[in-house]
Amino acid sequence: MKYTMAKVPDTFAIMHGLLGVVKSEFESAGQLSPELLRSLHMLHGQTLVSALDLIDSKKVTIVTSNSGRWVYQVTGSAGTPYVCLPDSIFCQCPAFKFSVLKKKDSVMCKHVLAAILATAMGVTDKKTISDEYMMDLLFHMD
Ligand SMILES: [Zn+2]
Repeated sequence: MKYTMAKVPDTFAIMHGLLGVVKSEFESAGQLSPELLRSLHMLHGQTLVSALDLIDSKKVTIVTSNSGRWVYQVTGSAGTPYVCLPDSIFCQCPAFKFSVLKKKDSVMCKHVLAAILATAMGVTDKKTISDEYMMDLLFHMD
């Protein structure tokens, strides 16, 4: 009789599970436990520390256009705003191209990590822009 081994969950599946814990811990305690931070650090290393810095300094904004389309805008440490797409690891920053796509030594950059953690914690800023401006933001992504 043949049977299949359970598939080893990949990083994104683990991350998805951890986000649920981030949400419930932050809702009930207003902070993340050391155990949870350790798990997140195992997945993301130094990227986690940088992402938490971005969240602490309120750099994550959900930008919604009048017609309801939305993206994340995360301001990097040097003040450059980067657009990150919802449900995607895409980011405009150089670290995405080099560390995530090319060297594959990170699963996502600090901006995307900050965006999804801030969303789970419910601490994003919100901004509404015109459809024209949204088209402009998306047009200038590459
Ligand atoms: Zn980035």
